Amino acid sequence: MRNTAAWLLAAVVALSLVAGCATPRGESGALRDLKAGERPTLDSDEAGLWMAMDRVEANLRTSGRIIADPALNSYVRTLVCRLTPPHCDGIRIYVVQTPHVNASMAPNGMMQIWTGLLLHAENEAQVAYVLGHEIGHYVRRHSVQQFRDLRTKAAASVFFTTLAGAAGVGFVGPLIQLATVSSVFAFSRDNEREADDVGFELMVAAGYDAHEAPKIWETLLAQRAATKNPQASIFFATHPPTEERVATLKALAEKTGSPRDERDAGRDRFLAATLPFRTSMLRDELRLRRFAATQLLLDRLSATDSASGEIQFFQGELYRLRAESGDEARAIAAYEKAIGAGDAPAEAYRSFGLVLMNARERSRARAALDRYLELRPDATDREMIREYVKRLE
Ligand SMILES: [Zn+2]
Repeated sequence: MRNTAAWLLAAVVALSLVAGCATPRGESGALRDLKAGERPTLDSDEAGLWMAMDRVEANLRTSGRIIADPALNSYVRTLVCRLTPPHCDGIRIYVVQTPHVNASMAPNGMMQIWTGLLLHAENEAQVAYVLGHEIGHYVRRHSVQQFRDLRTKAAASVFFTTLAGAAGVGFVGPLIQLATVSSVFAFSRDNEREADDVGFELMVAAGYDAHEAPKIWETLLAQRAATKNPQASIFFATHPPTEERVATLKALAEKTGSPRDERDAGRDRFLAATLPFRTSMLRDELRLRRFAATQLLLDRLSATDSASGEIQFFQGELYRLRAESGDEARAIAAYEKAIGAGDAPAEAYRSFGLVLMNARERSRARAALDRYLELRPDATDREMIREYVKRLE
């Protein structure tokens, strides 16, 4: 998006002016918390940051990646308002369709929840903890603090170079740019600890099961170990999952968490809100081709829902796409289970047919592909599949 580069450059210029003109008197160090409904005074550097993020937000709105579904949006808004009633009106929430586990909160009140978080979290309490952490950055005004620290260290040029760099990567799409802009706000360890604390306090005050907080980090740690790639997620880059984080939160949960029979993880509410999107989220997840991490997710999902044809279908898809030795037979077995379960998507027949075709099981392949065409008369790949069926006759 060409206009993205234009506005980012405008934002950089605006921020440069702010950095160049404002006097730093008494501005470094910890700031008092943002009050509900508070806006920065117009001539402040904070107002410059807000203005820049307003432009990012305008771009996000037209990115084509926002999930507009009213039920899902109402669900996440209820969750955020439960966490922080005073700031509820000042926060605008965007559910962004992108498979990375991530959430972010800009100083102007723009909150992003990426669908990868909704797919990989197990329940509402885990999402609440992550969002509470982001609200912590927002309320404690960490972006402004970080910006001023950079300026004090005469390192603001790095800040602007990063933003300008983000402006120059238009060809890879606005989401990557947004991620780059977010990474400008990679916070200090102290700020991260503080946001962890706030996130934890907010979730406990809202009545969520505190024991769920360390579990989302454990999920991320396990994924990182499986993929052997520390940069596998944008969230990893700005939020390193560490054993220290897990241990601290576990100790806190033991101290302040509610008794076992009163723990509310909100799993049923969470599933009711997110299950309608699981098929598309799993499809996006597989496109990342980070099969080891996806396998961990599928293992967890099938542990509680082993009869799900949908999960078996995606298990088959993982094997088919990974295509390592033995995966063809594994894929066939998974598709058989998926189709046997009765609730597999029609694509299960298509994938099943393609794998069987590859395995030279011609009649079974033809039957599966025929069934796909029957179930999806309007499929966009109909002509191609008909061609395959003809060749198999
Ligand atoms: Zn953070």
